[in-house]
Parts: sequence; structure tokens; C-alpha cells
Amino acid sequence: MSFQNPVFIPGPTNIPEVVRKACDMPTVDHRSPIFGRILHPVRANVRKVLKSESALIFIFPSTGTGGWETAITNTLSPGDNVLIARNGMFSHKWIEMCQRFGLEVQVVETPWGEGIPAATFQEILSEDSGKAIKAVLATHNETATGVVSDIGAVRRAMDAADHPALLLVDGVSSIGSMDFRFDDWGVDVAVTGSQKGFMLPAGLAIVGFSEKARACVDTAKLPRTFFDIRDMEKGYANNAYPYTPAVGLMNGLLTSSDMLLDEGIDNVIARHARIATGVRAAVRAWGMKLCAVSPEVESNTVSAIMTPEGFDSGRIVNHAASVYDVAFGVGLGEVSGKLFRIGHLGSLTDVMALSGIATAEMVMADLGLDITLGSGVAAAQRSFLRGVPAQTEKAA
Ligand SMILES: *Cc1c(COP(=O)(O)O)cnc(C)c1O
Repeated sequence: MSFQNPVFIPGPTNIPEVVRKACDMPTVDHRSPIFGRILHPVRANVRKVLKSESALIFIFPSTGTGGWETAITNTLSPGDNVLIARNGMFSHKWIEMCQRFGLEVQVVETPWGEGIPAATFQEILSEDSGKAIKAVLATHNETATGVVSDIGAVRRAMDAADHPALLLVDGVSSIGSMDFRFDDWGVDVAVTGSQKGFMLPAGLAIVGFSEKARACVDTAKLPRTFFDIRDMEKGYANNAYPYTPAVGLMNGLLTSSDMLLDEGIDNVIARHARIATGVRAAVRAWGMKLCAVSPEVESNTVSAIMTPEGFDSGRIVNHAASVYDVAFGVGLGEVSGKLFRIGHLGSLTDVMALSGIATAEMVMADLGLDITLGSGVAAAQRSFLRGVPAQTEKAA
């Protein structure tokens, strides 16, 4: 088994060498000012990545799933109504969590491959004259289907219905990779984890709260202890946690968030868009289709590629792993066996993406699918070509 190859799963993502080194550090006293010199800049950086001036940032030793739990338990009470679309495995799991916490979940069943139906949300919210719905939950990027939803449109739907519900957004596979606008979209809680756009190992839940969401915490009655943001706030005031923080991961997050901000968050977004465009060009050249039903919902962090009827897509993932030491993503839930996923988020370049596309071709050719070797690579290359900048030509 080789660890030389990049992974092409949509999280955990590839870890840059400098980030790995930053995670590997001697023990520091996590109640000392030294830890504060990691904690406070990390929170400021995350706020910038979210494109927010004022979001309150909390970082738990956990994963994205713990971020979901933080979002709902600090803002809602048993029996509260929430509105959410089910359009893939991740929205499905968030729905299940809400049900297990005793929330009344109004689910808008949505075909897997489509985005959140903002117009339907607007109708439902308009009809809710008693304002029973306390929160709208939205999965920005359905990692299972490679579908991005328009969170701005969800916010406009809420505003058009003049509805005061909170907007809780799962940005686990979008934040730090795709356009995410906490302030502009009026997001109340944003959730992510460390192992996707932030290019770290799994182990942190990263959440941002608006003032409005923060104001709910004293009346929200869902049970919580570990994820109570009030305990976290008290800790932060003393450079500390209510328990032991994952100091190495926090230090890694300082480095990785610095990297994102040094590159420029809009440049990071543009890089993901460019790489995704190349991957999609390859998929078209193979004569295959994405699970995403239309170009507006195509994700720039993961492509879910439908395999021919009767062919078990899991074979692609198994063969790639066992023969070429390359990881692709399997189909989850409803689309299990029907698609495979190429993750293209985090620490990735055009050149790395080409190696993944080339490997997918070899795997599909080995398995007897009708693929012309090089067809997808060439299509991606054409989309990646940048020409010769005029300036450089003069200098040479
Ligand atoms: C990965 C992912 C999650 C779950 O995060 P964990 O860190 O595995 O708990 C939730 N939502 C989306 C959209 C994801 O991609």
C-alpha cells in the first residue's frame, strides 16, 4: 500500500505537509496564554473564511456531526418544528438526528440530484401564520450526490415569507472551498468539520453563531452538556476550554486557515471551480452523467458520477483502492451501487486532479466499461490550459 497518491474522496481530504507538521507539537498547557495565542487567531481566521464580521466561532473536539448537534441543541427545544429538505445522505442523517432529539421535523422530500426547493420552502413558510417553524435547516452541499444548493435563495424565501425562523446551514463540504457568505445570506448557525475544506485530520467541529442564534441559548431546552456554547464562551474568556482542547489540531487549523486566507478566499473558491470544471469535462468526455440534474446544482467540491445500469459502481472504488492505491468515494444510501464520487476539495491542484481522472479511466477500462483512455484527461487538460501570459513572453 502506498501513501504517495492523493485521495479523491470528499473528506477527509489531503493534508498539506505544513499542516501535518503544525498538528504535531509538544504538549502545551491548555490553560495558559500560549494556548490563547492559538485559539483567538484561529477563531478570527474562521470568521473570515465564513465571510462574517461578527459570527461567534466555537470549535469543539468532535466532527461535523457534533456541529449539527451544537447547532440544534443550543437553539431549539423538544417539540419545536423545523423545516428541511431530504435530497441526499447528509440531509437524511441531520433529519434523523433532529427526530432523535424530539423535534417535529417537516421534511420536503426532494429527488436525490436536485437542490433545496426554495420556492416550496417559501410556500410552507408563508402558510405558517402562527410561526410554529423555529428553524430552517439547509445542507449547502450534499456530499452524497454532488449537489450544491442556493442558500441565498433559501434566505430570500424566508424573507419573502416574512418568517423569523433561524437558518441553520450545514457547510461541512463547502466552507473553505465554495462560496459561503455567512453575513450576506443571514446564516444563523454554520457548521463544518476540520477534515474537508480545512485540510486537517478529522477531530474538530467548527461552528459559527449569529447574535440571533446566540440569544436562543438560554431558552433552548434540548439537552446538552458537552456542546453547550455558554460553557465554551466562559472558557474562551480565560484562553481555555471547559475541558481539554485538541491543541495540535487547533494549531493545525491556525496554519490551514492562514493558508486559505493567504491564497485569498475568493482565489480558493476560483481554484475549486476551475478543478471541478475540468473533472466535469472529463465526465462528459466519458459519455457519463452526473447525479446533479442541472449545471446550477453541480458541486465544485465533489462530482457524483452515475455508472451504467446494471453495473455495480462499488467495483470502481474497490478496484481503484486495491490495484492503484487510489481512493474514490462510494455511493451512499439511495444511490449506493449506482454512482462513484470524485472528491475535489481541499489541498488539490489541476495536476493532482489530472492524476485522479487518469486513474478513474484505467479503472473503468480494466472493468470493461466503454472508456477511451485519455479522453477525460484530454478534456480536463483543455479546460485547464492557461496559455502564455503576455508579460512572461516579453520577459523571455
Ligand atoms: C462529511 C459531512 C458531514 C459529516 O461530518 P463528520 O465530520 O463525518 O461528522 C456532514 N455533512 C456533510 C455535508 C458532509 O459532507
